[in-house]
Amino acid sequence: VSDLVERARLTARAIADFGENLVRPTIRIGVTGLSRAGKTVFITALVHGLARGGRFPVFTPLADDTILRAYLAPQPDDAVPRFDYESHVRALVGDRVWPDSTRQISELRVVIEHKGKDGQARTLTLDIVDYPGEWLLDLPLLDKTYEQWAKESLALSRAGPRAMLAASWHAYNATLDPNAPADEQVAITAAQLYTDYLRSCREERWALSLLPPGRFLLPGDLAGSPALTFAPLALPAEAAPPEGSLWAMMKRRFDAYKDIVIRPFFRDHFARLDRQIVLVDVLAALNAGPAAVRDLEFALASILDCFQVGRRTLLSSLISPRVDRVLFAATKADHLHQVSHDRLEAILGRMIERAASRARYAGAETDVVALAAVRATREARVRSNGDELPAIVGVPAAGERAAGHLFDGEREIALFPGDLPADPERVFDVGRTGFQGLAAASPEDAEFRFLRFRPPRIERTVDGMPTLPHIRLDRVLQFLIGDRFQ
Ligand code: GDP
Repeated sequence: VSDLVERARLTARAIADFGENLVRPTIRIGVTGLSRAGKTVFITALVHGLARGGRFPVFTPLADDTILRAYLAPQPDDAVPRFDYESHVRALVGDRVWPDSTRQISELRVVIEHKGKDGQARTLTLDIVDYPGEWLLDLPLLDKTYEQWAKESLALSRAGPRAMLAASWHAYNATLDPNAPADEQVAITAAQLYTDYLRSCREERWALSLLPPGRFLLPGDLAGSPALTFAPLALPAEAAPPEGSLWAMMKRRFDAYKDIVIRPFFRDHFARLDRQIVLVDVLAALNAGPAAVRDLEFALASILDCFQVGRRTLLSSLISPRVDRVLFAATKADHLHQVSHDRLEAILGRMIERAASRARYAGAETDVVALAAVRATREARVRSNGDELPAIVGVPAAGERAAGHLFDGEREIALFPGDLPADPERVFDVGRTGFQGLAAASPEDAEFRFLRFRPPRIERTVDGMPTLPHIRLDRVLQFLIGDRFQ
């Protein structure tokens, strides 16, 4: 019965959206990516560029003056927080600090006035939906039972660096008997240790990507609720642990998580998206090394799975997602010299190909791009030992430390970012080449790998409009909405 109700709700939503779209041509764009992938910066820069006529030569409707103007309008969904665009612009442009990151879902509506093919003025409404990638990676849980999930999560936590990160949780788990009577304090401790393990997987050093359940890391107003107080248990020896057992309690809560957290997200947000951009901090994974790269590939396969058309699973039996284009973007490309931008794109492209074959993908059209929503560095050639080397120049953010310096957010430095391999295959081929992320030229450079730069000064276009420098943001717009200006 609940399945039928779910279907009815989804259909009602789809019909309402369809009707709205007839009156007001609208495109809903999902922006996602794991925590710190760059969602907030991306949306802020994109909207700033659209509204202020940024420098977007590859985005044809803007370059050929089809677009007349773009402005913010009140968003349609009363229950979703608004993306705090104004504060984020103030931080980025006014104070030149990075804005506060995404912790939950938010939405922003931009209305674009443009000339139609017939010369008449028209509007295209852009609803931008910002949500944590951790939530997207929860969708595959809908198809899993507690038993399957517990087994898979335990196996995953025993491989590579995870084994060490999960040690405390493993030790505690070993003391638990799934058949013992349910005990709230035990559930709380297990969930806490499991969450600590997931959180340490996210540390810069490890940069692992597969971390469901997503709300364990971003609990929002569900923090401390039973739906978030469970953890995987080792499979009990007996076939069916009795009612009232610890196992039964965990199982019930896992199911509650699906009902309370995942299904509403799928229905109210994911199923309504038309296009999706997935931001990926590929550089963080490359820096962290082979385990992170592998993990990212699995996460990408899992994400692709969400965009499959006609999948014969619980997800698609509810409704097939209507997303018809998915763009995967490697963010923060301004940390590399431009010779490496295409390489970064090629590496992400290869990751997607491998993930697609893993997921036997047949779904929405996909593309990849390497971008910097806000370009915090510029390029220069620097003399070193008689050689001219390509370098990037930027101001390290206040409080950053490297090679014994504490930066004050004012001093500019030049550094050699290191090269990415020309052959993308090398990043997967760890055993043979020993490639370890961005090859640091010297041990000192290694410290610079994670250096955060301060946002740049605003530039002016020829007609005096303030504009933020970027890398390939216009290509993103062209792929996501370039075809919608008839
Ligand atoms: P979110 O958690 O996905 O919303 O991530 P944010 O958009 O808040 O970005 C996280 C951090 O990544 C920022 O605070 C910046 O330090 C960095 N970052 C994001 N985008 C860029 C970019 O285009 N260039 C540079 N240099 N850094 C970026």
